[in-house]
Amino acid sequence: MTATRAPAWVRDEVILACDLVRQNGWRWLLQTDPRVAELSSLLQHMPLHPAGVRGPKFRNINGVSRKTADIATNHPDYRGKRTHGGALDREVLQNFLDQPKEMAAAADAIRSGIRSGSFDATAVGWDDDEEVAEAVEGRLLARRHFARERNPRLREKKIRAHLSQHGSLACEACGFDFEATYGPHGARYIECHHILPLHASGQTTTRLDDLMLICANCHRMVHRGKPWLTPEELKRMIRTH
Ligand SMILES: [Zn+2]
Ligand SMILES: [Zn+2]
Repeated sequence: MTATRAPAWVRDEVILACDLVRQNGWRWLLQTDPRVAELSSLLQHMPLHPAGVRGPKFRNINGVSRKTADIATNHPDYRGKRTHGGALDREVLQNFLDQPKEMAAAADAIRSGIRSGSFDATAVGWDDDEEVAEAVEGRLLARRHFARERNPRLREKKIRAHLSQHGSLACEACGFDFEATYGPHGARYIECHHILPLHASGQTTTRLDDLMLICANCHRMVHRGKPWLTPEELKRMIRTH
């Protein structure tokens, strides 16, 4: 027997549903609403759930409309009876209430990425990595972030530019220098971090100025927890501890 139950919604999908509810004045949308059909089709084009696990009802207008009700009835101003909804629905809703501009921009970036097909090309296999799954702005934008900062050509360019300007590859946040510590074995070793926040990183190509060279420890710390640290937050943390 094949699975008929659609896979659970992931953060990216809930972000798009939540953004639609927001645009609708935090009221849910009926199945007959053309915006529900539009979102249903968009969700079916997201490269998140493999075809084999989707089932026949995958993100149909029924399910999408129900999801908007789960979100709308969890809004703090809603006075009626709540539908079920899950912890993720409430969490994403809270993200929208806390950071309305950033989350609306993240939804925009996800939508335009799906429409242009630009997410299809980004490497899969990140889903197992908890730090990616944890990004407030969802998996697709996080995947793109990691793909950009691991682009070998860009990395090489950045390293060369940095070396000719500073003469060493010390971590821009904490000053750790792999070569100074490990000798020739650590020469030219450093990680690239893309500094634009996910919601603002759009379709544009990466400029060298968008990259920061940091050690592996600092890079881990940036991506640990939600939301990811800004370069300023990271540096302040190091200074004050
Ligand atoms: Zn560092
Ligand atoms: Zn990074």
